[in-house]
Amino acid sequence: MKDWKSYLSHLECGATGERIEADRLHNLSPAGKPILARYDLDALAKGLDRDSLVARAPDLWRYRELLPVREQANAVSLGETVTPILSLGALATGAPLLIKDEGRLPTGSFKARGLCLAVSMAKALGVKSMAMPSNGNAGSALAAYATRAGIESVVLCPADTPEINLQEIALQGATVYKVDGLIDDCGKIVGRYKERMGWFDTSTLKEPYRIEGKKTMGIELAEQLGWRLPNVILYPTGGGTGLIGMWKAFAELKSIGWLEGDMPRMVAVQATGCAPIVRAYESGADHAERWENASTVAAGIRVPAALGDFLILAALRESGGFAIAVEDDAILAAREEVARAEGLLLCPEGAATYAAFKAARADGRIAADESAVLFNCSTGLKYPMPDLAIDLEPDADGSFDATFGGA
Ligand SMILES: *Cc1c(COP(=O)(O)O)cnc(C)c1O
Repeated sequence: MKDWKSYLSHLECGATGERIEADRLHNLSPAGKPILARYDLDALAKGLDRDSLVARAPDLWRYRELLPVREQANAVSLGETVTPILSLGALATGAPLLIKDEGRLPTGSFKARGLCLAVSMAKALGVKSMAMPSNGNAGSALAAYATRAGIESVVLCPADTPEINLQEIALQGATVYKVDGLIDDCGKIVGRYKERMGWFDTSTLKEPYRIEGKKTMGIELAEQLGWRLPNVILYPTGGGTGLIGMWKAFAELKSIGWLEGDMPRMVAVQATGCAPIVRAYESGADHAERWENASTVAAGIRVPAALGDFLILAALRESGGFAIAVEDDAILAAREEVARAEGLLLCPEGAATYAAFKAARADGRIAADESAVLFNCSTGLKYPMPDLAIDLEPDADGSFDATFGGA
């Protein structure tokens, strides 16, 4: 189609800046670090007016100039809808408090954004089989998009991954393995057998394009808010693809002159049972050590070691943000509070951002006059919930009267 144009120019090592050729298959850079996609932003700034987006379909392909897929025929799509930004008006205690609800995306989580782009590029570059470790949501998105593209997929999950995730991944066409270990143990198996099995390693940040998909969260947020970003963004951080991707998006938008006002402060939210980024942030380190015995109800952020740790930490520091950990009890209480006050069922990871917001408002790290956007990254429906229904016995002996009051 003639209106389909990507301004992708080349790739680059995220650590050394070494230039890497685009349009070829890559995993990590020669330095063993994540690879970032780069665009001809000067040409893009001249070639595309932000107002011309208005007429486009409401999905992530509206930002195709800033995405790596060169031909529309390779864009694998399941309907990556623009997700709503909702006000948490009943819970805000100062400046506006908003939440972007990513649970509306295909496969019920924002992993769809990343895997949509990773699979589209894999298709463009002739990949036949993709493999990855997953705590659930990424595997589901890989399975769905790979199947849609006619590519085989293999997903390795920790054995305690909820049944519903294992089931949805398998039903969408992937081969699923349950591994007695954590997500990085699953990742090691992919690394060890990928050559023998002919798998393309699609692990977080081990290929260049999942970041580009997650980047669209940041572009979309900016567009929805009239190209003016909030003061603070709280992001539930596992591998950090979304945080790195959004920070990259904001830099690109700023460079093409589309943003009004200031850059936001980026806040990485983790659980106290798995907080490697918080520990590294607080100690001033550039890299995060592996977190031993990681455990949290927020499975999506149970990532003991992140390959992009240095990129996450750089984004937090460059933006004047911070990293914060919240207890599982606070996460579950936050989920209940938001559901009861706002009618919005968050996933535990999304609830963690609200718990972190409250803690940071209380200790002054977020001021009352700072506007904030939280991220709910998955539908709340895939997670265990408390059974709060009240039993009602058959009415034979007048038990309805006993419950509701007699006439
Ligand atoms: C994957 C995931 C996260 C963490 O996202 P990253 O960008 O990998 O840090 C948070 N919440 C949910 C529900 C997830 O599935």
